[in-house]
Amino acid sequence: MGKFIFRLILFAFIALAVSVWFKTFRFSSRQLQVEPISELSLNDSLANRFARALKYPTISSGNWVDTSAFRRMDTLLQKQFPLAHKQLDFERVNEFSRIYRWPGTDALLDPVLLIAHLDVVPADSVAWTEGPFSGTVKDGYIWGRGALDDKLSAWALLESVEKLLQEGFQPERSIYLAFGHDEETSGAMGAGSIAARFKEEGRQFAFVLDEGLVILENALDGLDKPVAMIGIAEKGICNYNLIVQLEEGGHAMMPPPETAVGILSAAIDKLQKNPFPPEIDGAVSHFFDYVGPEMSLFQKTVIANRWLTESLLISNLEKDPAANALLRTTIAPTMLRGGVRSNVLPTKATAKVNVRILPGQTIESVRDHFQAVMDDPRVKVQLDTSISYNNPSGISEVDVFGFQLIQRTCLEIYPEVVVAPSLVIGYTDSRQYQDLSDQIYRFCPVQIDRSDLTRIHGIDERLAVDDYLNLIRFYHQLIRESGK
Ligand SMILES: [Zn+2]
Repeated sequence: MGKFIFRLILFAFIALAVSVWFKTFRFSSRQLQVEPISELSLNDSLANRFARALKYPTISSGNWVDTSAFRRMDTLLQKQFPLAHKQLDFERVNEFSRIYRWPGTDALLDPVLLIAHLDVVPADSVAWTEGPFSGTVKDGYIWGRGALDDKLSAWALLESVEKLLQEGFQPERSIYLAFGHDEETSGAMGAGSIAARFKEEGRQFAFVLDEGLVILENALDGLDKPVAMIGIAEKGICNYNLIVQLEEGGHAMMPPPETAVGILSAAIDKLQKNPFPPEIDGAVSHFFDYVGPEMSLFQKTVIANRWLTESLLISNLEKDPAANALLRTTIAPTMLRGGVRSNVLPTKATAKVNVRILPGQTIESVRDHFQAVMDDPRVKVQLDTSISYNNPSGISEVDVFGFQLIQRTCLEIYPEVVVAPSLVIGYTDSRQYQDLSDQIYRFCPVQIDRSDLTRIHGIDERLAVDDYLNLIRFYHQLIRESGK
């Protein structure tokens, strides 16, 4: 009997080992074999042209935009890109947003929509090495607010179009450029209005390309190449108000067992101790399918056998807040209010919880989770409608024309990177265009070290001159190849 059990265990072990080996062996590369293109010669002075755009504080904040800065920048745009403004069908939307239509020779092909935004977040100039609106080119970098988010896309797109027009290029597929002016607030007046215009026209796009993810250096342990992450989905966002309203207050010298503040704190504590369940699914699952085969044998084996290793992988990833955000709907209690005096029992306490929703879940399912976990009818859960909220996006496909064109073009410019689809944990203007295309990608191919990510919306935002020139090359090649 003992021998039989031993044989059985041995057999099970061998079967498992064979299965793991087989899965690892079959886990083949999804990278495309691409010949690098000969470098499009571009003058370094293009960096100075872009730096001029960073001198305009086109800030959007709350319900406010710096209209004077936008007006002055409009003059610069027309001066710097005369062909684009003359030869393309150009239109302003709500004064500061812009659409450029470049009709293709084949009207049967769905057009491509390339989007960016022209507004920036405010900057506290004291802490910056170079002034946030100085538009300085120094030490191989272009410095200023908007260098990474997101004036670079608008300028590189227009430079590439201007160059193609100079070359006499005519696209087969119509090319649309659309630049919003309030992405950093709601996007409603910019991208929202542009999308409404396209909807009225009954337009459908082959694909949409927006900002979102970048080429990240040192992205993963076990992978020495930078990863070009193309966002194929984006998390939803909402804020929930938690409200405890009691009928009676009273003096703090005769307190009941719980006050409104205590009830609310206990509820928040329960929410934090019962996070949403993690999962490796959708866009994140695609990410591992693309990066896994490029990693060292150990990591490749772990990722190829997620049926066996998923909980190990998750427990490793969730230690890092950035990776954790890819695995689950996250909550962050951010604001608390309650009480008027230290010796008066509060009748009301409120909190705000910021939620980032994983594709597959909804604003409603988040509320259900909150109510189930808190399990306290005294805590009301109310969606904060005073600021914008969105369900997660759909997931765009990877085995289609749009994704493959972006992947191929990226590799033609950056042959040494690994391309992988991924999930955007922030939000972009592209959410306004969901009804206009099934394939929406969020990617700007500039190479950034992980440690530099804090410069976006932070201090010393800057872009390497070489990256900027490569971005122009990327769009130039993408538009040239877009008819295929
Ligand atoms: Zn942005």
